[in-house]
Amino acid sequence: MIATKKREFKDLMENIKDYKSFFLVGCSECASLCGTGGEPELAELKETLEKEGKTVTGTFRAKTGCQVLGTKVELKPFKEHLDKTDVVIVMSCGAGTQAAVEIFPDKPVYQSNDTLFLANMTRYQIFDERCSLCGECILDETGGICPVTACPKGLLNGPCGGTNDGNCEVSPDIKCCWVRIYERLNKINRLDDMKKTREAKDWSKSQKPRALIARTKEEKKK
Ligand code: SF4
Ligand code: SF4
Repeated sequence: MIATKKREFKDLMENIKDYKSFFLVGCSECASLCGTGGEPELAELKETLEKEGKTVTGTFRAKTGCQVLGTKVELKPFKEHLDKTDVVIVMSCGAGTQAAVEIFPDKPVYQSNDTLFLANMTRYQIFDERCSLCGECILDETGGICPVTACPKGLLNGPCGGTNDGNCEVSPDIKCCWVRIYERLNKINRLDDMKKTREAKDWSKSQKPRALIARTKEEKKK
């Protein structure tokens, strides 16, 4: 999922101060779990905007805010509210905001959150970054622990000389990921993988912007 964090209200206000009416769009997926775009947050922002003398014409929580066509269809019943709205505020991730920009080509769209990283939820509403979306996964060689993400230097052949009592020299409060990889490989009898030298990654695979057609029209017909 995508981790998001609420922006300070004063920063949002600075962007939208010249507008009068707003429609708020949340998301039932990641933003709801992050506490940045679920029903309680929609209600809270509505109340705060109204206290500032603004009008909120409606609130809506998309099933999956980054899904452009699905969200567009879900928003059809809100046409009347949206026609009376100066600005759409999106309370999800940057992908959700850009979906709204596509859905509302003639309206200003602002976002109430900052988008942080691809997240694993380890406990309810506790998030860790485990994958940097590099496009060429090496987890098979590293015991399923990603050094591109878990090592602050992104070392593919660690550990570096700074490992201190098993902890990371860059972030002493975390265990060196290469120590974790060693322990994991040892546990699953794959220590030989530790001896392999990994070539430099092909970073062109993570060159942006990326696109993917998961299934072609022809494949969908089958
Ligand atoms: S190697 Fe790349 S794709 Fe695999 S987990 Fe790490 S960042 Fe993600
Ligand atoms: S101590 Fe380990 S995790 Fe930290 S930078 Fe060096 S190799 Fe990476």
